[in-house]
Amino acid sequence: MDMHKTTACLLLSPFLLLPLSPVALAQAPKPSSAAAESITDHDVIRHIKVIADDSMLGRDTPSHGLEATAQYVASQFKAAGLKPAGDSGTWFQRYAITRRRIDAEGSNLTLRSGKAEARVSFAVAARFVQGTVPPEPIRGDVLLLGGALTADAATGAGAAGRIVLLAPNPSKADLEQSARALYLAGAKAIILLADIDSAAYAPRLSSQRREHTAIDLGVPGPLLMEVREGAVRRVLSAAGVNPAQVRAAAQPVVRDLSKLTATLALKEIITARQTAPNTVGMIEGRDPKLKHEYVLFSAHMDHIGISAGQPDSINNGADDDASGTAAVIELATAFGRPDARPKRSMLFLTVSGEEKGLWGSRYFSEHPPVPIDHIVADINIDMIGRNWPDTIVAIGKEHSDLGATLNRVNAEHPELGMTAIDDRWPEERFYFRSDHYNFARKGVPILFFFNGVHPDYHRPSDSADKINPEKEARIARLLFYLGEDIANAPERPKWKPESYKEIVEQ
Ligand SMILES: [Zn+2]
Repeated sequence: MDMHKTTACLLLSPFLLLPLSPVALAQAPKPSSAAAESITDHDVIRHIKVIADDSMLGRDTPSHGLEATAQYVASQFKAAGLKPAGDSGTWFQRYAITRRRIDAEGSNLTLRSGKAEARVSFAVAARFVQGTVPPEPIRGDVLLLGGALTADAATGAGAAGRIVLLAPNPSKADLEQSARALYLAGAKAIILLADIDSAAYAPRLSSQRREHTAIDLGVPGPLLMEVREGAVRRVLSAAGVNPAQVRAAAQPVVRDLSKLTATLALKEIITARQTAPNTVGMIEGRDPKLKHEYVLFSAHMDHIGISAGQPDSINNGADDDASGTAAVIELATAFGRPDARPKRSMLFLTVSGEEKGLWGSRYFSEHPPVPIDHIVADINIDMIGRNWPDTIVAIGKEHSDLGATLNRVNAEHPELGMTAIDDRWPEERFYFRSDHYNFARKGVPILFFFNGVHPDYHRPSDSADKINPEKEARIARLLFYLGEDIANAPERPKWKPESYKEIVEQ
């Protein structure tokens, strides 16, 4: 053993005697390496064990466990020397949410074609599925879509400002993506025709009477209803529509039903008003000009709460997304070191309500503490503690020059033993499914780091003992170098023009 050491010293000593060349100086470790190396597996797992502990009860939005998590993150941001960047000098942004349920007796759908009319009560043959209940009744002429419907056909159907009646081919239509496309195209409401008899339909009606929690953004969300076909068959026939034929079509069906008008009157009952937190901290940049621009790191601290009726009922969400929350804390701590402060300012954000429908990031993107166009990039982290030990998926690389920046920074750090690869599952459309999307739609270039799902996904078994903290620490170090590069670059990141058109200007 000793002999090996001596040999190594002898071999190295001639080099140590040489004067340092400019090349050697350039290759000397940057002070920031020490900051990156301050991110350790020990610290990563320490945070995850707190956040994913049973005492947090699965961090549902809203809940005591979520509040405790928000406080924990704030305490870590404070210890890291960050400045609070929430509401009126606090660490927290709070957004309003309400407990509410549909008043089925007070809600109805009326379809009219000439003299034929059907008025359907939500207590009898129609059902609220999801969306923001509008304060006034919605009226409009009807667009009929169906058959083997695709997202492309739905996008091009001219749904803006219309009420859409859907009769999709059950085996051939892509219902989820088509409904999304219709919402994005500006459809006022989407009404699904349910081909089911009244006895079988009754149990479905009760689902809308259940209380649910909703965010109050003042921005309408997609409004999705369902109506039992038998209850409107006569008025549809008067408008020349045979739903069975439409449904059976092997091609997408798009028909303008100019004679058919719909009125949708919905009523809901609010049973409680609450709020939920985002935690936000900031590090001011050292460049007097560039400090007015911000690099944002984000992750969601909420999870899905408790699934009652099983031996272990607490969904710990260690990977989803205590892992990302821990990474944001570690990045804040690393960037908080005096030797690591970059030119641009940095924002560190842990949001809530992600699992409910990207609420916290939606609210933050509508009410940012700094002008949204001063945020030059969002690095979002959701699930980085499991699966491959040496690979991490980076989603969104193709949409801006952040992809090239990441490839370059990654190549500069072979010592991390970590390779960021392209989106492995484009068909899953993950780009649109976590918090970064709320920033992308506002014009902020994003990268989303994600290790993919696993059998413990959204189960009580997503627990801290299954996390690989050594791997996660290496990913977080890579994200440190990436964030540092973006924050010190002379130019801010740029969208690819085609992507900007598709994602921001849509
Ligand atoms: Zn998640």
